[in-house]
Amino acid sequence: MKEKTFHLVSLGCAKNTVDSNTMAGILTQSGYRFVSNPRQAEVMIVNTCGFIKPARDEALAALRELSRLKKNGQYLLAAGCMAERFGPQIAAACPKVDGVLGTLHIPEILSLIHQIQNRNPQRENAVRELPALSHQFALQGASAYLKIADGCSRRCAFCSIPLIKGNWKSRPAEDILQDAAMLQEMGIRELILIAQDTTAYAQDRGEKDALPGLIEAILKTAPAIPWLRILYAFPGFVSDRLIDLMAASSTVQPYLDIPLQHAHPAVLKRMQRPDDIGWVRETIAKMREKIPGIAIRSTFIAGFPGETEAEFNALYDFLEEIKFDRVGVFPYYLEEGTSSAAYGDTVPEAVKTERVDRLMRRQQEISHEINRAFIGKTLDVLIEGEQDGLMVGRSYRDAPEIDGLVFVDGAAAVGEIVPVRINSALEYDLIGKLVEK
Ligand code: SF4
Repeated sequence: MKEKTFHLVSLGCAKNTVDSNTMAGILTQSGYRFVSNPRQAEVMIVNTCGFIKPARDEALAALRELSRLKKNGQYLLAAGCMAERFGPQIAAACPKVDGVLGTLHIPEILSLIHQIQNRNPQRENAVRELPALSHQFALQGASAYLKIADGCSRRCAFCSIPLIKGNWKSRPAEDILQDAAMLQEMGIRELILIAQDTTAYAQDRGEKDALPGLIEAILKTAPAIPWLRILYAFPGFVSDRLIDLMAASSTVQPYLDIPLQHAHPAVLKRMQRPDDIGWVRETIAKMREKIPGIAIRSTFIAGFPGETEAEFNALYDFLEEIKFDRVGVFPYYLEEGTSSAAYGDTVPEAVKTERVDRLMRRQQEISHEINRAFIGKTLDVLIEGEQDGLMVGRSYRDAPEIDGLVFVDGAAAVGEIVPVRINSALEYDLIGKLVEK
């Protein structure tokens, strides 16, 4: 019997990476082998992102490229967020796609392959059905993303995620703890908790402020994992209990990603987001007081419909005032089906681009200024590899893929957490020397 092989292209965010890992796990468990060359794969899968148009264009480009390579006997599948919401459009744009698997149906990957093979009775190696894996994590070097929930019950005016993923679905704590224990066994050094909104964990089960309790249980279950990082907190839901836990635990890294999207109350109102900027100021001040050195990351949208120059300036001034460690800025994209689509896309593209650039230029200077303050200090760095004769890793201030790096002069093994004395600062990265013990 011919060997069963698959090739998988994972696009989009860390949550999609976890879904890709789930599919890969299910396929591997049923006898498939991953191949990096798509020409050698029986099943080719693109796990798409469908959040905004540029992401969908990227997904279609990947599907078209695999369509071009596709030969008789190979199957091409589109999975993920774009597949969930835009399946018919994918089928029209890429006629060589054999099947579509929305993000809510990821565990059904084998059934889909089975169905496609049954449409083709020549196939000799029909798949064996196995129960779907309940694990929801993805490895990233010595780190692992661990999904604690998916979907979102909020209705931010610009966001298509609830249309793609539906309302909150928190994983049972037992499943998350089982994953944490398994990742500890695997020697993982950093656990990164992800969800569309981690602070909403278990709200779908009627529990309030359940994230701190979950983290405490993870710390007890997997005490050998030295770092735990929290991504994607929602304004208004960073509780005192969470701040106190972060302050007291040496495992929970002093880092919080809290996407704020804007800083002008009128824009936030139009965005259907919490508009209490006073809460943001007070909470950031409280976190900085209780968790000295905390790195705070946020993301913002420039050019939301109707954003005036004065409203934009309020956002610019807010960045200037707060001095976030890390910032991402995106231009507004009109997404059909979202409530802000009714406003139209009123800010001209050139103005959006100019506003994004203005914010990012200033943030680059702020980031450089903050980085320079680390010169002479020692940071623990999780080593991830080697580049240009230096070791390269991340400190507590850097989440994988989105933040900076620390370049280290000295020898250390991948996965080790080592003290590094910082001697030079770039806009986003730091350079230092290993402190010999
Ligand atoms: S919190 Fe708002 S922006 Fe985030 S996923 Fe939910 S609806 Fe989208």
